[in-house]
Amino acid sequence: MIDLYSFCQCGSGKKLKFCCNQKLKNIDSKAVMPDLAKFPIYDCFIIETWEFSGLSTVNVVRKVATDFYVCVSYLVDFWCLGLKDASLMRKLSKKDLTRMLGFSEEKMVSIPYQEARNLILGAIDFAKTVDINPGVQWEGILYSFIESDQAYTQKNCFGKDGVPCYMSGPRDHEKYNVEEICRKVKRKNGECIIVIKG
Ligand SMILES: [Zn+2]
Repeated sequence: MIDLYSFCQCGSGKKLKFCCNQKLKNIDSKAVMPDLAKFPIYDCFIIETWEFSGLSTVNVVRKVATDFYVCVSYLVDFWCLGLKDASLMRKLSKKDLTRMLGFSEEKMVSIPYQEARNLILGAIDFAKTVDINPGVQWEGILYSFIESDQAYTQKNCFGKDGVPCYMSGPRDHEKYNVEEICRKVKRKNGECIIVIKG
């Protein structure tokens, strides 16, 4: 249960009820969202085998108050497309979080926040080397949630063995020009394309 009289974790020193609660409750308009990066990181998790599957959600959870969390779930293609999707889950209890982890078909593991940032921002930059932009309208809120204006550590974990490698997902056609992606990957790396038709 959310305790409205627990301290809002945004750093104001006020109780949740008299602080960010209203904004977080009536959000349809992103304009009224408080700056979510003010809330401390609670946990981040990813599919344990992401390096082998090349695709995972990277989930970043911040704590708002007692038993009240917000999470942004970033769907990341580590081999080619970078950020495919992202969604903000606004009001989660601890129970919801546990359930979320349970729903995943693959085992999820906890990773440090900086590592989560390195993976998301790194994948976006890797995709840019093949001239592919994030598949989500990369709204400010999703950016600021992981403090994308701050530096991150470049890692060598993108691409399949370092080479862009496109695996087409079942609904990629709705969002991407798949033929164009194939052309771009091919131009860069010759033959290295895997196409899994969904
Ligand atoms: Zn607050």
